[in-house]
Amino acid sequence: MALIVQKYGGTSIAGPERIKKVARRIIDTKKRGNRVVIVVSAPGDTTDELIKTAQQITPSPSEREMDMLLATGEQMSSAFLAMAIHALGEEAVSLTGGQVGIVTDETFTNAKIRRIDTRKIEKELSNDRIVIVAGFQGITAERDITTLGRGGSDLTAVALASVLRADQCEVYTDVAGVYTADPRIVSDARKIDRISYEEMLELASLGAQVMVPRSIHVANKFGVDIHVRSSFSDEEGTVITREVSRMEEVVVSGVAYDKDMVKVAITDVPDRPGIAAKIFGALGKEKVNVDMIIQSSAVGAGVNSISFTVARGALRKTLDTMEKVKQEISAKGIVYDDGVAKVSIVGVGMRTHSGVASKMFSALAQENINIEMISTSEIKISCVIKEKDTEKAVRAIHRKFGLGKAPGKGRK
Ligand code: ASP
Ligand code: MG
Repeated sequence: MALIVQKYGGTSIAGPERIKKVARRIIDTKKRGNRVVIVVSAPGDTTDELIKTAQQITPSPSEREMDMLLATGEQMSSAFLAMAIHALGEEAVSLTGGQVGIVTDETFTNAKIRRIDTRKIEKELSNDRIVIVAGFQGITAERDITTLGRGGSDLTAVALASVLRADQCEVYTDVAGVYTADPRIVSDARKIDRISYEEMLELASLGAQVMVPRSIHVANKFGVDIHVRSSFSDEEGTVITREVSRMEEVVVSGVAYDKDMVKVAITDVPDRPGIAAKIFGALGKEKVNVDMIIQSSAVGAGVNSISFTVARGALRKTLDTMEKVKQEISAKGIVYDDGVAKVSIVGVGMRTHSGVASKMFSALAQENINIEMISTSEIKISCVIKEKDTEKAVRAIHRKFGLGKAPGKGRK
């Protein structure tokens, strides 16, 4: 008997009709002779709504109480789903993260899983029940409820699939899988059949909102294959896995974009050792994540300018921190531009192919899009451009690399 872990995202279980539909799919899975463990997210926008209400009470609620609150969203889904399954005549039991034995550290709102005690789940499974676990949550050794960070129910599913040695881990969502580009922007974006953890990690960190990066890390570490698919159809989705063998050699797997960023520049800083260390040391201390960094070379004048990008939400903290170090590094000005975005291409094939970067740049040049910053890694190239050009850029790059649905082109 195979063991299947299925995770259902918030849109898949928003409202009674969708819950009933998911219940039927789960029962079908069981009737095919499988043991089934289900992980659920909070319905629809529940988590956002709860956060909003808390903030109306106080702008800085205690993180412990936030977790106490947010964990209720998933708990609600698990109970609803168990009821729907009962109504169809099958046995099911809903469990919170704590009841399951998902033990985490004490980092409220962003806890790390320490260990999972599988006894409770195994006992319920051996009683022939469908086990429904509230995702995104755990419990500390002191029995405080914790949550695993936004999007954390993906992580619950992957972690459970790993400790239970599940035969399959399916993540049901509102899209049919992972695409070569955002289908809302690129009409001929193509669903990718198989993608490596590495590529998926990059795509997820670069703005493709299919699964949270942390869950891919864990999947990679423990070798859990993840099948991302739609809860609204029976279509096969995308398998995220270690080895991807391809019919033909593919250089670029997908195009991603991220608008949630700001470019900050420090102008006229002296060109001497220790300056960058001061700037980024101060930001590091404030836990600001810096993405791209560019330092223009000082030609003769003895001064540089240093630009970098941060997430939009970190702008305030970044500017405050920069004001503080400004004196120390004798910089003249601090300016920022929040009208920028990042477009990126990802593909393991880049390791063995040259000319990929220039092809991307020429796609942008042909559309008259100016590149403000560039960064590259082994399997990705990113460019910062004007935010208003994002859609045009994504389409142009997608076309240039032949990623679309046109027959005989792109990846198989
Ligand atoms: N409900 C949580 C969130 O919205 C966790 C999840 O959906 O995975 O972030
Ligand atoms: Mg989610």
